[in-house]
Amino acid sequence: MPLPKPTELETRQRFWTHVERREGSECLMWTGALLVSGYGQFKIRVGKTIRAHRYVWKVLYNLPLEDGEDLRHTCGVRICMNVAHMYTEPHGKSLLQKGWSNERSA
Ligand SMILES: [Zn+2]
Repeated sequence: MPLPKPTELETRQRFWTHVERREGSECLMWTGALLVSGYGQFKIRVGKTIRAHRYVWKVLYNLPLEDGEDLRHTCGVRICMNVAHMYTEPHGKSLLQKGWSNERSA
């Protein structure tokens, strides 16, 4: 018997168990798995992972993010999950940054 699929709510609750607020900072730090690029990685379900900050933006806050856009941080902290610290930018502005070619937009 396969395990029952987690509900959307369970997935959201599980996400926040991987986030902690660091003292003296407004950043919400991802404590889960990391990609080589330094971004957090969240497994939505078996076989499906997404960059953690994109999950916050798209799924938790339902904000628009086009395929051709990158999601960046004003605070410079790639594992920050505070949506107030994020902004979108057309893809391609940072192609020289390490790790870009290893990532697919999730
Ligand atoms: Zn931040």
